[in-house]
Amino acid sequence: MNDRLREKLNILADAAKYDVSCSSSGSKRKNEGGIGNASNGICHTYTEDGRCVSLLKILLTNHCIYDCAFCVSRKSNDVKRAAFTIDEVVQLTMNFYRRNYIEGLFLSSGIFKNADYTMERLLRVVKKLRVEEKYNGYIHLKTIPKASEELIKEAGLYVDRMSINLEMPTEAGLKLVAPDKSHLDVQKPLNFVQNQIAQFRDDKKLIKKIPRFVPAGQSTQMVVGATPESDMQIMQTANAYYKKFSLKRVYYSGFIPIPNTAALLPQLGTPPPLLRENRLYQTDWLMRFYGFEVRELLNASHPNLETDIDPKLSWALRNLHLFPVDINTADYQMIVRVPGIGRQSAQHIVSARKFGKLHVHQLKKIGIAYNRAQYFIYCADSYASLRHLQPHEIKSLILGGGHSKYKSLHDTQLHLF
Ligand code: SF4
Repeated sequence: MNDRLREKLNILADAAKYDVSCSSSGSKRKNEGGIGNASNGICHTYTEDGRCVSLLKILLTNHCIYDCAFCVSRKSNDVKRAAFTIDEVVQLTMNFYRRNYIEGLFLSSGIFKNADYTMERLLRVVKKLRVEEKYNGYIHLKTIPKASEELIKEAGLYVDRMSINLEMPTEAGLKLVAPDKSHLDVQKPLNFVQNQIAQFRDDKKLIKKIPRFVPAGQSTQMVVGATPESDMQIMQTANAYYKKFSLKRVYYSGFIPIPNTAALLPQLGTPPPLLRENRLYQTDWLMRFYGFEVRELLNASHPNLETDIDPKLSWALRNLHLFPVDINTADYQMIVRVPGIGRQSAQHIVSARKFGKLHVHQLKKIGIAYNRAQYFIYCADSYASLRHLQPHEIKSLILGGGHSKYKSLHDTQLHLF
């Protein structure tokens, strides 16, 4: 790799790191005389069947005609600019792929000239990879808002996943930091891609040999903590987009203040809201896999998630009238709502109780977190005395006995020694 290409890679991989819609973990491993060098811009994502794949995560260019206040590539930001040629992206991807550094490509771009000009170049990259290079690795492509449907449709034939970022969770928030953008610019392509996926699926039933269209589905990302939306607003938006556009994932990206950031945004030195981001992911998970409605977890009287306890425990403490749950008779749907019991344990409980009443030692063997669950359940031999505790008592008993990795964030006591 020549020096100019290496410099471009440094600039354009660094600018891409703010996009979390493929989970990122950069590698700093150096080549110390052996084979291989995990270069800048490698990140990891998970396929639908749970495999972890490493991706080359880059922008085609960080030139942009827009001036979104939260973005490091915005036109008014004084940063070094660079742009890959189509061949450079193809060659980088193929070289990294052949050397086994990566299993896929995550390709995004600033918008240069106009949406179609940029989208057309992105299309040429993915087409060249698939058609000329016979590349079969994973490709996640960021769609360019306002790009024409023909270009999106053709690109969809070559990529595995497409995504387009909502950026701010509400239209009002977006207008605040990116007056030129609108959620409608995102909804249109999401809607188009969703319809195309459905269309290709229907056609496949009739025609055996038909190309696949965005087989890994589409996703979006919201920036959290840059604008003043509550957690309730964020999750309401996520829920609506999951339902309306059949998204595979919504990513929540805690705002990382960037150099020369606009005055209306959190300034450099403000820590990114990592704990909030984590609580939002937990809420998202409860919504998608545990049958919770957003309004149960977040509502007008409880618009923000607590940071010291997870959203499931918070919900249970606010709904103690639904507990304790009888492990030996309750439905799976209720058992899975107990703090400390996951989906797999709930399934095991329902299967195991067919052979006789379950006792505490059996529940522990199944793998439930009994230290949390004990306040919300009863089984053949559990303590009746735990059923009369107040929410604040349960909370302090759980927090007192827990080993949360976030405990230090809530510890206000100064450590002097
Ligand atoms: S359009 Fe995209 S790349 Fe350009 S400034 Fe806005 S967020 Fe950044």
